Amino acid sequence: MPAVKPSEFPPPFDPADAIGPPTDPEEDRIEVGVAIVGGGPAGLACANKLMQLLEDEPELTEKLGEVPVAVIEKGKVAGAHLLSGANMRPSAMEELFPDLPKSEWPVYQEVTKDAVYILTSKAAIPVKPPPPGFRNHGNYVTSVSKLGRFLAEKAEEAGVYILSETAATKLLVDDRVVKGVRSGDRGRGKEGEELANFEPGSDVVAKATVLAEGTVGHLTYAAYDYFDMHGADPMRWEIGVKEVWEVPKPLDRVIHTMGWPLRKSPSFNEFGGSFIYPMGEDKVCIGLVVGLDYTDATFSCHDALQLMKTHPFIEKILEGGKRVAWGAKTIPSGGYFAMPKRLAVPGMVVAGDAASMVNIPTLKGIHYAMHAGMYAAEAIVEALKQDSVNFEAYDEKVHNSPIERDLKESRNMRQPFTKGFFLGGAIASAMTVTKGAFPGGHWKQEDDAENAMEIGAAGDMYVQPDNELTFNKLDSVFLSGNATRDDAPNHVRIQTRVPREVAQTWVSMCPAQVYEIPDEQLENGAAEVDVHVTASNCVQCGAITAKGGRLTLPEGGDGPLYQET
Ligand SMILES: Cc1cc2nc3c(=O)[nH]c(=O)nc-3n(C[C@H](O)[C@H](O)[C@H](O)COP(=O)(O)OP(=O)(O)OC[C@H]3O[C@@H](n4cnc5c(N)ncnc54)[C@H](O)[C@@H]3O)c2cc1C
Ligand code: SF4
Repeated sequence: MPAVKPSEFPPPFDPADAIGPPTDPEEDRIEVGVAIVGGGPAGLACANKLMQLLEDEPELTEKLGEVPVAVIEKGKVAGAHLLSGANMRPSAMEELFPDLPKSEWPVYQEVTKDAVYILTSKAAIPVKPPPPGFRNHGNYVTSVSKLGRFLAEKAEEAGVYILSETAATKLLVDDRVVKGVRSGDRGRGKEGEELANFEPGSDVVAKATVLAEGTVGHLTYAAYDYFDMHGADPMRWEIGVKEVWEVPKPLDRVIHTMGWPLRKSPSFNEFGGSFIYPMGEDKVCIGLVVGLDYTDATFSCHDALQLMKTHPFIEKILEGGKRVAWGAKTIPSGGYFAMPKRLAVPGMVVAGDAASMVNIPTLKGIHYAMHAGMYAAEAIVEALKQDSVNFEAYDEKVHNSPIERDLKESRNMRQPFTKGFFLGGAIASAMTVTKGAFPGGHWKQEDDAENAMEIGAAGDMYVQPDNELTFNKLDSVFLSGNATRDDAPNHVRIQTRVPREVAQTWVSMCPAQVYEIPDEQLENGAAEVDVHVTASNCVQCGAITAKGGRLTLPEGGDGPLYQET
């Protein structure tokens, strides 16, 4: 069987389409003070912090106009597109709301017990004591989609305008200064034609623009190209599929597992593990996270999670329970070396996942995103007070913060796992003990789409769904609350005739069953096949961008409506 790199079949997409000067006549432009793209932890922490700072700055508030701060969010509501573990370090919440008692935080509980297991297909072997990266005492289990709703409510109470169901589709740049964003059109048909309810997008001009788009930033990556901001290594990602279960018996600890059903051999490059977190007395969440640098085209994270639930150790936790939520999302995993070389350009800053601020060895990003949002707010207020759009102070703040310190310490910890589970684990442990000093240096990382894909046997391991413990992709998408119009334009850019290995990669990888190879081509063994796209299933996880395609922005409001992921 040949091995083929998805990067050889780049999507029909030009990042330059996502950047340009304002086009609406001046009198028709919507003017806001600060435009924040993305109502996730980064964007909403930024919005809240801005309002707190503006309380002491009446002159600046006046200058920012009627809408001093606006958050532009493509989900139906803030939180609709958010999915995370979500085992949260409390530092950012403490800093943002110092007077708010923890009893009022949107969390299920504080973590008091940790457990780590290595799974084989039958056994669960405890790792004692849990490795340092897996110690979560003092953290809080939350749901990031609930956290998003909470932060949005706080922001609205403080005077922020949340423009939900609005996709920012273009970064407005004039004379190399960012001037805001353009919102996407609404009411277009499959071929892009204007339907009866068509509404064109608008230029939203701002004195400062914060890109807090999260994983796979559409405008962010266009800005990285345009302003030459790319980091030392390419962006890369892991995919996570998560379920929430109502269970009769409460879980008393946070659990992480490694090993099965991922295969140990370095040739498969299957790096990842699971999380199982208690959510109060009657719910647990379970998720599997896997690096998108794997090489078997038949690997499917959704199906690997279904298989994992049949393990006796895990089946017991879910016994007598009912699945109540499902979702999928990618996590940037390039860490320190994938962070952009600058976080600010005139008129704009980037914060959170969009800037690769995730510590993969500890699977933490929420508090980094929130801290970054708050630093951005501070730098923006200081600059705007001087009538300046130079936000470089934000760069400095991040450089001197725990965000950069932690990511620097873990900068090489993901890379050794290409050497296999045991050797990779041993090297990463040495790095953890020495806080990244040994062996130090820069272990280069590759683009996920540069890994050559082969048709392997991962797909043969998966189980037939029984609709009690295990489920297929389509029923799962239904549970995500996805309500994208069937006649919406296709927002997923791929080449639609590609080698079988690439097509199979997309079919298996996509947790939402967006891609299909026609049956007759599957059966006749053709080397090159067509890929059919059902874009309305897409839950905007972002994985296609990692593996050779490009997720662009659908109409605002499309996609999942996560409630508790
Ligand atoms: C499976 C999984 C498990 C994880 N587990 C943990 C964990 O246990 N603990 C932890 O701390 N972290 C965890 N993380 C990471 C954490 O969730 C992220 O680091 C964090 O959510 C990043 O916040 P953000 O605001 O940068 O981005 P996001 O949370 O992704 O928010 C971005 C928002 O921007 C919106 N948006 C994007 N582009 C546009 C646009 N152009 N126009 C309008 N809106 C836009 C999106 O809809 C979204 O609402 C996990 C992540 C995943 C996927
Ligand atoms: S089509 Fe959507 S859901 Fe499927 S992999 Fe791509 S981004 Fe994820």
